Amino acid sequence: MTIAVRSSTFSNDEIRERVRDLADRVLRPAAAEIDRTEEYPFSHARALRDLGIAGMTMPKAYGGRDVGFLGVTIAVEEAAKACGISGRIVVDTNMGAVPAIMAYGTEAQKRRAADLIHDADKPAICFSEPGAGSDATNMATRAVRRGDKYILNGTKHWITGAGISRLFLVLAQVYDGETFQGIGSFMIEAGHPGFRVGKRLPAMGLRGIPEGFLHLEDCEVTADALLVPPAGLKKGFGQIMQAYNSQRIGAAAVALGIAQGAYEASLAYVEQREQFGRPISEFQGVQWMLSDMAITLRASRLLIHDTARNANPWPDVTASAQAKVFTAEGAIKVTNDALQLHGAAGYGRDLPLERMARDARMFTIGGGTTQILRNMIAGGILGRRLPQTRI
Ligand code: FAD
Repeated sequence: MTIAVRSSTFSNDEIRERVRDLADRVLRPAAAEIDRTEEYPFSHARALRDLGIAGMTMPKAYGGRDVGFLGVTIAVEEAAKACGISGRIVVDTNMGAVPAIMAYGTEAQKRRAADLIHDADKPAICFSEPGAGSDATNMATRAVRRGDKYILNGTKHWITGAGISRLFLVLAQVYDGETFQGIGSFMIEAGHPGFRVGKRLPAMGLRGIPEGFLHLEDCEVTADALLVPPAGLKKGFGQIMQAYNSQRIGAAAVALGIAQGAYEASLAYVEQREQFGRPISEFQGVQWMLSDMAITLRASRLLIHDTARNANPWPDVTASAQAKVFTAEGAIKVTNDALQLHGAAGYGRDLPLERMARDARMFTIGGGTTQILRNMIAGGILGRRLPQTRI
């Protein structure tokens, strides 16, 4: 496949308008069905690609639009307001693995990744293992060099996209013989010999993207599958984590979008639902809930946008963690309050509130738990490595 040449970039207003229009026409009407069937919406991935939203952060030379992280968080919020899964597709096709490959990949790796994004793939990034979650650098997956090849063995789990993604960025402890070289990231494609997708892990929310196991069984890749950051493999993990900060503000933007959608539904509902002879919006108890929701949403958006706007070139680690902790915890509260404001109708499955509350629950866990992120924030403000962290 050849890369489509796109010459223009997008303004943030244009991004907002484009995604909002798609959300109203396509994403929102399908969101409940995606949740019910738990099937990945390939058609949404293609629609976002056709709109130019996938791969926006890639340089123009690779068919991207050189859009900064701020523009992506705007797109993510608009998509997630209608459909959380679509918000995650915007994140995974612009943040995390994508800018990491564009920053650290070889020319061939960049071209291949760009081709797959233009073919509407949603790349996956693979840290977590059954024995290494928060303690990610303690991973057991090993890549051992043999001539111009690496042989990978290990098990990854909770990988978003296992079973539907084509491009995987797999992290492993890299060895040359018995000598540890550092933690490296390997670009591996679905169907590669020795790379097997395992059991799906059924989840509470965001059910339209599968999470699951990946098994690497004497998986042989050529040495050029390894991404080599400029500072070399010894600093490989740190540099991938810098790129991963973009994924974190992306995840925060999904949580924000879901919560914003729940808030907007609540605003409309409290004006039309009447009890005690008046709209429930006239009760102070309800008004104060709306006020708190609005404060949380605005503060979340400011944290996310400020972190994205000041990326240089990556979002700051402490700021990204702050944005994700605040937004993830706030989104749980906002979506639950939105459900509450709808009474029994909110608890029922005919309205999207219960889905939004389930969808919002993920963000204090995936992509670094709020406890681990608080450790990172504390390390940042104290200016030292803390005893409860390895890196
Ligand atoms: P554990 O590390 O076992 O933690 C359990 C509890 O202990 C948590 O509350 C944690 O905060 C707490 N804890 C642990 N250590 C400390 C400490 N030092 N101080 C204070 N508290 C601590 N991973 C990927 O690699 N790729 C993906 O695409 C991906 N997608 C995901 C999608 C979803 C929906 C979910 C739920 C997870 C996903 N993950 C993915 C995995 C995710 O990154 C891990 O779940 C997360 O890092 C936490 O690891 P764990 O679940 O093993 O929890």
